[in-house]
Amino acid sequence: MTATIEREFDVIVIGAGAVGENVADRVVQGGLTAVLVEAALVGGECSYWACMPSKALLRPGTALHGAQTVPGAGEAVTRTLDAAAVLKRRDYFTSNWQDDGQVKWVEDTGIELIRGRGRITGPRAVEVTGLDGKSYLLSARHAVVLSTGSAPTAPPIAGLAELDYWTTREATSAQTVPGSLIVLGGGVAGTELAQAFARLGSAVTLVARGELLSMYPQDAAKLVLAGLRADGVDVRLSTGTKRVSKNDDGSVTVDLADGLSVRAEKLLVATGRHAALDGLGLEAVGLGAAEGKVPPLRTDTTGLVEGMDAGNSGAGESNDQWLYAVGDAAGKVMLTHQGKYSARATGDAIAARAKGELTGTPAPWSRFAQTANDHAIPNVVFTDPELASVGRSVEQAEKDGYNVSSVDLPINVSGSSLHSEHYEGWAQLVVDEDRKVLLGATFAGPDVSELLHAATIAVVGQVPLDRLWHAVPSYPTISEVWLRLLEEYGL
Ligand SMILES: Cc1cc2nc3c(=O)[nH]c(=O)nc-3n(C[C@H](O)[C@H](O)[C@H](O)COP(=O)(O)OP(=O)(O)OC[C@H]3O[C@@H](n4cnc5c(N)ncnc54)[C@H](O)[C@@H]3O)c2cc1C
Repeated sequence: MTATIEREFDVIVIGAGAVGENVADRVVQGGLTAVLVEAALVGGECSYWACMPSKALLRPGTALHGAQTVPGAGEAVTRTLDAAAVLKRRDYFTSNWQDDGQVKWVEDTGIELIRGRGRITGPRAVEVTGLDGKSYLLSARHAVVLSTGSAPTAPPIAGLAELDYWTTREATSAQTVPGSLIVLGGGVAGTELAQAFARLGSAVTLVARGELLSMYPQDAAKLVLAGLRADGVDVRLSTGTKRVSKNDDGSVTVDLADGLSVRAEKLLVATGRHAALDGLGLEAVGLGAAEGKVPPLRTDTTGLVEGMDAGNSGAGESNDQWLYAVGDAAGKVMLTHQGKYSARATGDAIAARAKGELTGTPAPWSRFAQTANDHAIPNVVFTDPELASVGRSVEQAEKDGYNVSSVDLPINVSGSSLHSEHYEGWAQLVVDEDRKVLLGATFAGPDVSELLHAATIAVVGQVPLDRLWHAVPSYPTISEVWLRLLEEYGL
């Protein structure tokens, strides 16, 4: 018979990815007790199968290409990438898929860890099937937080379910470089991994239903597209996929909607992700749906889940503010840095509510509200060239009813010409004409990601353009493009 252990904590956090770790940290700093429940590795997707390994696979290629494009340094580059050394460095950055370091951090921080799969059984109640064979019945005095991350969404393509294909997990943890690779998906993950594997020596075909990186201004995305093509990636845009099948030699054939077929050793499907909410027992609190599929959750600016019916929410016992969802699990923004930001706000809000210091909905921009999630989200595509963007695009701003103007320019300043031969870049500012503040900014080009935080500060701070005029970029840096953009705007 399985032993059952009953425990009570102030806060139960299900999922110990970057986001869950941060929520637990903040509530403990706020004087509460917290338990993290984790079914796999403490640190989650970002540390082991997403941000860290994908960037570790890309960085050596970017460094090599960077040297090749600077006369004087280029002559010293006499070899191509050492794939085995790149994979070894990637293994270092994933700690060889061992989580001891993060477990130590959890323990040192005063958070309790239970390894196992958690599910909600009622208001403030979580049952954990422990990896140690034990069963835990946990109850939360104040809050249960869902930080269970996301899962890949498989597209409805004939033959796919029967295939043993790669998701981003298998790609980022690959131990060898396949001779050839087909990437389905022209979003961030597909684009980054297509370039990483092309530079490591795979013959890569990327198939996208629409444009490459269609969520970004196409003047920026087309520089990334040119970068991929320069690396030999065969990019097929606006191309549907009809069927996939396995060949006798183990390779995969993808039949495209345009009648052509492509064949490769491996297939990577990177066509998007959805919040991982299945099997969490949300139906026990009125949030499940028919056929076991849980619809996306609705959360307020503190991460509090809305829409539980009173009978299941625990209302009447004390209050109905106990279930939170943060990070990828909240289903709105799937980025580590933004998830951690949300986690800080949620953790602080839980601690403040527990102490009676926060009632109702916090004001925008208070430390408890995830206000920046509303159109001030920075994000980077770590290809070479990079694409970095924050806030609203022109289209989004128009849709949201702003009186919008925009300026854009190729990046052509002393800093960019010193950076490398034939530096090609593009930058854009999106302006709210009524308030004369920035709504968004996009940069594309080698090493532009480090320009992004200045734009994030300007967007979040709603810095008036005539004050931004006094923020003088150092000479000769690529940031001088800020000056050119403001001049182009008319300042
Ligand atoms: C290929 C790729 C590259 C990416 N690169 C970047 C990047 O460069 N920068 C960036 O900001 N973002 C990047 N992202 C996105 C980033 O990885 C996610 O936004 C981030 O990992 C979300 O963190 P999280 O803590 O919400 O979820 P996760 O990291 O997914 O953690 C969730 C955890 O919950 C656990 N869990 C789930 N269900 C249960 C349960 N019932 N019981 C117990 N435990 C459970 C899981 O095992 C997991 O450890 C990338 C994503 C991909 C796929």
